[in-house]
Amino acid sequence: MADNIVTVAYICSAILFILSLAGLSTPETARRGIIFGVIGMAIALLATAGSHEFSGYGMLALAIVPAVAIGAFLAARVKMTEMPELVAILHSFVGAAAVLVGFATYFNPENQLAGIERIIHDVEVYIGVCIGSITFTGSVIAFAKLRGIMSGSPLTLPGRHLLNLAMLLGTIVLGIAFARAETTSSAIIMLLIATVITGVVGVHMVMAIGGADMPVVVSMLNSYSGWAAAAAGFMLSNDLLIITGALVGSSGAILSIIMCRGMNRSFISVILGGFGTASGKAAVVEGEAIPIEVDETVELLKQAKKIVIIPGYGMAVAQAQHALAHVTEILRDKGADVKFAIHPVAGRLPGHMNVLLAEARVPYDIVHEMEDVNADFDQTDVVLVIGANDIVNPSALDDPNSPIAGMPVLECWHAKTVIVMKRSMASGYAGIGNPLFVRSNTRMLFGDAKKNVDAILAAYRD
Ligand code: NDP
Repeated sequence: MADNIVTVAYICSAILFILSLAGLSTPETARRGIIFGVIGMAIALLATAGSHEFSGYGMLALAIVPAVAIGAFLAARVKMTEMPELVAILHSFVGAAAVLVGFATYFNPENQLAGIERIIHDVEVYIGVCIGSITFTGSVIAFAKLRGIMSGSPLTLPGRHLLNLAMLLGTIVLGIAFARAETTSSAIIMLLIATVITGVVGVHMVMAIGGADMPVVVSMLNSYSGWAAAAAGFMLSNDLLIITGALVGSSGAILSIIMCRGMNRSFISVILGGFGTASGKAAVVEGEAIPIEVDETVELLKQAKKIVIIPGYGMAVAQAQHALAHVTEILRDKGADVKFAIHPVAGRLPGHMNVLLAEARVPYDIVHEMEDVNADFDQTDVVLVIGANDIVNPSALDDPNSPIAGMPVLECWHAKTVIVMKRSMASGYAGIGNPLFVRSNTRMLFGDAKKNVDAILAAYRD
């Protein structure tokens, strides 16, 4: 394929990726966004494989065929609740790829650069390997935390900020020495040491982040994986990889900032590992929860004019969204004003609840963000909390020692009655008690969310 055709193909791909990102910004256009992304990636792959610089088709097939088969098999099997882990492990692959590309380009015997070109290339390799290594190890730890293999509580080593600073300075000093190294063997040793140090930085950074701040880690690693891909693009002199990496890197960074705003956290504090988060002991929840049965719930719903539904991670686990969509339809047909309230960190993935509700065909115009609903709770008759916990925890506002202190939450307790559907009094992801469950206007509808929503649906249909 001639160079100019490859360039045109790359420009088309880049435009499609931008359109894809734009499409993914709202649920209505998300499907179109994904299609643009898939077409852009197909064009990019074909153009790269077809360029005259490329010749290793056997090797490409050997890498791509099993990768596509394994990827398709795992993606088809993955449950919606396991998506964050899948995303985290995929980020780790990008990090690992950047490290391997860095070493491969450094060892490439055809690479005969000299003078300033050599220094620029070495800097590209060094930065690419370092970002790749942080992304790789950080993503593996994030995967382990999200999967529950590793505890979600933060590792707060004494002097951890000094340790981070020392590792950062060490990496910079090694980088200068690497670029000035006189022999390849000493340069390689420095690159290897830097890979190990930045790998430790990745582990330490994610280990230091507490449960409730994990959403920021997922989006932050997404951003790092983009910058790692962009660095690989510089090393391989591939413009499209640079553009794609920069798009992923900057959109991931914007998402991290949005998530931090949603949680009232400072971005810098979170990435530095819990700087300024509460260090005291969260208050113990005291009091008796008042249970409720399905028939009483149905009675309350029948009398309610204004209803707000708050879905959380438990709705995803129970897969209650379809039955819930039917209940919503019935309630609205009977004249109730029904709204869904979505917290920015509900579930285990940015936009997790929106995806599930869209899948169940809940109309978009009744799905609202937290800020739009919080002021309405005092005029609401019934709030149905379905498998949510941390996002409706009043201690975020009342208890300065709580690990989620300062995080805005859905203030549903201002409603007349709050019905919480969950299986037990167990805590949520942040591992803290929830005083909402023992408030006088709260009723606990214990059991699996899907079973209970099905029972509510059956009661309406009878
Ligand atoms: P939580 O994890 O706080 O609570 C979920 C609740 O669902 C649990 O308390 C559990 O209680 C209940 N539950 C589980 N299974 C079922 C079931 N089958 N039926 C009924 N209930 C069930 O979820 P939230 O959505 O309220 O909050 C999200 C949390 O996850 C936040 O702390 C957030 O920071 C964190 N997080 C979010 C990410 C994101 O990007 N959105 C990423 C990583 C972490 P029980 O066992 O008693 O049933």
